[in-house]
Amino acid sequence: MNDASLILVTRPVQLAADRPAEQDGFVVADPHSSQLRVLDLGATRGDGIFETVSVTGGHAHALEPHLARFAYSAKLLDLPQPDLDVWRNAVAAAIANHPPVPEMFVKLVLTRGIEGGDIPTAWVYGEQSGDFSAARTEGIRVVTLDRGYRHDVAKTSPWLLQGAKTLSYAVNRSAIREAKRRGADDVVFVSSDGFLLEGPSSTLVLRNGNRIRTPKTDQGILAGTTQASAFEFFEAEGFETSFEMIALEELAAADAAWLLSSVRQAAPVRSADGLDLAVDADLTGRLNDHLLSSPN
Ligand code: PLP
Repeated sequence: MNDASLILVTRPVQLAADRPAEQDGFVVADPHSSQLRVLDLGATRGDGIFETVSVTGGHAHALEPHLARFAYSAKLLDLPQPDLDVWRNAVAAAIANHPPVPEMFVKLVLTRGIEGGDIPTAWVYGEQSGDFSAARTEGIRVVTLDRGYRHDVAKTSPWLLQGAKTLSYAVNRSAIREAKRRGADDVVFVSSDGFLLEGPSSTLVLRNGNRIRTPKTDQGILAGTTQASAFEFFEAEGFETSFEMIALEELAAADAAWLLSSVRQAAPVRSADGLDLAVDADLTGRLNDHLLSSPN
């Protein structure tokens, strides 16, 4: 068995009702050989969508919320609707074709295909996850960076695709390099009118006393699947949870903050723009235990 797994999704989108679907809609492929054509719009324009799903003990976490977000991103990009039954089975095949490991991830990708054609390119790739224990326990240093859009960008300029999980992550990667230049590990984007948004690949969650808050998702940001699982944990622990507009100044004033994402899970923020924040090791440890064992 390979140290990675690759499933090519041959029937990624819904067929017209009168066209019977004969096969599974995916095939197992060699993860180490080339598969993508150089004219693929995913490669040449970043024109496509993706999801990254955590897998522990062979179980894909929050698969249905990930699939729902995948379908939502497809809609925002005017891509054909993914056939979620095929993708669900392709994810299971990617996990089954990977040697058992404590933590792995599967990445689902759907591109617009070759320029001028109308056949999307699609695959699911699985690999063992990196070691995130330092970020999960010692925490991360973040800087706030202006995203350059107002908080209502999704409403005023939907063509900017804010809130879709597109393959165009060059800006997100550039922001991380800027954070490194400033001596930090990660970023919290802020709207041009001063509201906290999200990380380049994570959701921000703040604690003030008994209140747990995350930025409202109608501000051109993603609805996080990890944040949803985290809210279940916090509610079971007796915290109040809410989605709110949160001003930039509230980050440094929080009792605690985390960046949440699939694969890395909960990374406590130990400093924001150079100001120290307390890391609650016990609460963070229990939150990560919940996220890594969560049944949904
Ligand atoms: N926000 C952005 C921009 C992301 O790319 C991601 C995940 O990659 C998240 C938030 C967190 O989402 P999830 O918890 O579903 O992984």
